[in-house]
Amino acid sequence: NGELEFDNVSFSYDGRTTALDGVSFKVPKGSSVALVGESGAGKSTILRLLYRFYDLKEGEGRILIDGQDIRDVTQASLRKAIGVVPQDPVLFNASIGYNIGYGKFGASQDEIVAAAKAAQIHDRILSFPDGYDTRVGERGIRLSGGEKQRVAIARTLLKDPPILLLDEATSALDTSTEKDIQKALQNLVQGRSSLSIAHRLSVSVTPIRSPCKLC
Ligand code: ADP
Ligand code: ADP
Repeated sequence: NGELEFDNVSFSYDGRTTALDGVSFKVPKGSSVALVGESGAGKSTILRLLYRFYDLKEGEGRILIDGQDIRDVTQASLRKAIGVVPQDPVLFNASIGYNIGYGKFGASQDEIVAAAKAAQIHDRILSFPDGYDTRVGERGIRLSGGEKQRVAIARTLLKDPPILLLDEATSALDTSTEKDIQKALQNLVQGRSSLSIAHRLSVSVTPIRSPCKLC
């Protein structure tokens, strides 16, 4: 049935204070949801439990993917099923193309370009001197936080995981780029994208933003 379910999940880091208290929700196949909440609400904890950075113990509820308890799934197949775009991605001192493609063995240039388009970095990359050959890091250009996030999004899209987790992955982007990417992701999960990749669902984490100090 291709869905993700949290079933009455409670979790504590130290055994005394409660990080999650009886959390239940379902994310159906083909949908894109955002976890929105104040700092400390438990958003990151939900993601950490989902990729089994921590495991739930008996009596703390269940997390199910396609109806299967994730504790019965090996770490290796879980890592294949879930793609995470971190908040502050770290890139290799290598070309943009390498940074997008390294996670997928033998990725072709066409696939890398398609993933870059889906992450809305295509035009920007082509305006760099050597396009996908442009090096980043110490011996190349320095990318802005938003550019790094877009490279990381493209890298994760190329790996084509059924479940896509975005941990404040668009926090360094301006609002219009963020909207473009959200739209591209929605098209992907709903199978309306021109890319051949078909994401089943995505969960993004968005903090409630503090009011803009300069506005
Ligand atoms: P959010 O991502 O919504 O900001 P978190 O999931 O990081 O919230 O945190 C939920 C609660 O768990 C908070 O009270 C936080 O202090 C606590 N917490 C988070 N990470 C840890 C940790 N590694 N050790 C102990 N407590 C933690
Ligand atoms: P260092 O500069 O000592 O390598 P950093 O924490 O700045 O440490 O970077 C860690 C890695 O992230 C580096 O190996 C580098 O390749 C990459 N990186 C850092 N900043 C950028 C940037 N602006 N653009 C692309 N890659 C970067």
